[in-house]
Amino acid sequence: MHYISTRGGPSAGFGDVLLGGPAADGGLYLPDAWPRIGAAELRSFATLPYAEVAFRVMRPFVAGEFSDAEFRADVDAAYAGFSHKDVVPLVELGPDRFLLELFHGPTLAFKDVAMQLLGRLFARALKKQKRRATVIVATSGDTGSAAIAALRGLPGVDVVVLHPHGRVSEVQRRQMTTVPDANVHNIALEGSFDDTQNIVKTLFADSGFAARAQLTAVNSINFARIMAQCVYYFTAAASLGRTPSFVVPTGNFGDVFAGEAAARMGLPIERLVVATNANDILVRALTPPGIYSAGQAKQTLSPSMDIQVASNFERALFEASQRDSRWLEAAMAAFASTRALDIPPAVFYALQRLYLASSANDDQTRQAIADIRVQFGIVIDPHTAVGFAAVGNLAGRFSGPLVFLATAHPAKFPEAIRQAIGITQESPPKLAGIMSLEERYTVLPNEVGAVRTFVLERTGTS
Ligand SMILES: *Cc1c(COP(=O)(O)O)cnc(C)c1O
Repeated sequence: MHYISTRGGPSAGFGDVLLGGPAADGGLYLPDAWPRIGAAELRSFATLPYAEVAFRVMRPFVAGEFSDAEFRADVDAAYAGFSHKDVVPLVELGPDRFLLELFHGPTLAFKDVAMQLLGRLFARALKKQKRRATVIVATSGDTGSAAIAALRGLPGVDVVVLHPHGRVSEVQRRQMTTVPDANVHNIALEGSFDDTQNIVKTLFADSGFAARAQLTAVNSINFARIMAQCVYYFTAAASLGRTPSFVVPTGNFGDVFAGEAAARMGLPIERLVVATNANDILVRALTPPGIYSAGQAKQTLSPSMDIQVASNFERALFEASQRDSRWLEAAMAAFASTRALDIPPAVFYALQRLYLASSANDDQTRQAIADIRVQFGIVIDPHTAVGFAAVGNLAGRFSGPLVFLATAHPAKFPEAIRQAIGITQESPPKLAGIMSLEERYTVLPNEVGAVRTFVLERTGTS
C-alpha cells in the first residue's frame, strides 16, 4: 500500500506512515486508494472473532511492511488483553438503539483499541529498522494513558506526554503519572490542549530537532490509528445486518473519520453523527454556511473533547474535495494565519452527505447521564453522554438503527457522574491502586523551547 499526503507531498510506505508522524509537507497521510471489502465478506464478519475481522480489514494497509504472520501475531496479542471476550461488545439498549462499548482495554477508553496494536507494530518496525524513537504525544486526557500503557518498558522507545496542566480528570492524570517505567516522561503544560498540540506540531516542523530526537507520533494524525479504529464500525454493522448510523463523541475527528474510512471501503453507513461538547467548531463547519473557524477552547465535563482545531478534519476535507491537495494546501495555510476557513459549496455538500453534527452543553450532558440511567439502567461516561444529548436535537433524521459509541468507562470521570446522578462509581480493578501511587510529572511553561530542552535531556539525545 502506498500513502499520499493531503497536501500533495511525496508518497510513503506503511513503515514511514507508522513511525513518521505527519507528512513532511505538514499534511496527513492517507492510502492512495481505499481497499474495498465486498458485500459477502462484510456479511461473513458477523460470525468471526474481533481479532480475525481486524486482521482482514487492516491487512491491505500494512502490506509491504509486515508479513501476514507478523501482523496476525500483533493483532491477536493486542486484543487478547481486553477484558471482554467480544473486545468491543455491541449492547442492545432498546428498539434501534445500541451501545458499542469501546472501553474494555487497559486504560478504559476507546483509544486502547488502536494504541494496543500500535505499540506492538512500533516495536516491530523499530526493530526491523534497528533504531530507537521518541514518541511525543499531546493529550486531552485519554490518548496519553493509552500510549503509555502500550509503550511502557519497550526497549528503544521513550514516551513524552504533554497534558494541559489542571485540565484533565484526576483519574486520567494518575493513569499517566503513576506509571513507574523509566521510558515514560510526563509534562503538565501550562496551557490548553490546543497549546500542547501546537507545541507538538512545531517540534515536528523543526526538522533538525525532529531528526535528532527521532520524533514519532501516535496521535490520531497517525493513520495507523484510523486504520485500527475503522474495524469496530465493520463488526458493529455486520452484527446488526442492517445499515446503521453511528453517533460519535468527537474531538480531534479521528474516530469519526475512521467511520468515513469504513464507508469508503464499502461499509453501508446511513449517517455519521459528529457529537461535540461546547467546543463546537465542527458543528459550525458542518452546518450552513459551513465556516470552520477556531475560537478559544472551553473546559467542559468531557475533557477529551475540549478541542478547537480538529486535526483530522483535514482528511475529511481532502476526500470531500475529491482529493484536491492544491486547494487544501492553500486553504490550510490560510487557516493557519486567519484561524478561519470558508468551506466551498461543493466540498460542504459532499461532507453533508455523510456527516450530521450537533453539540451538547454540560447541562444537557448531565441530563443525558441521568436520563439514560432511568431509561436503560446503565451509567454512561460524560463523553458518551454528549452523543446521546446531541442526538436529541436530531430526531427524525434517521431511518435505520443508531449505534452510540461508548468511548470511555464512567469510572474515569467520577466527579461528572456524581454531579449528574449523585452516586459514586465503584472503581474497576484496573484503576484500583492508582489513587495512592506516587506521581511523576514536570510542569512546564507554554513555550516550545522548554519542551525541546526537556525532550533532549530526558531521552539522552542532547
Ligand atoms: C479522544 C476521545 C474522544 C474523541 O475522539 P477523537 O478521535 O479525538 O474525535 C471521545 N471520547 C473519549 C473518551 C476520548 O478519549
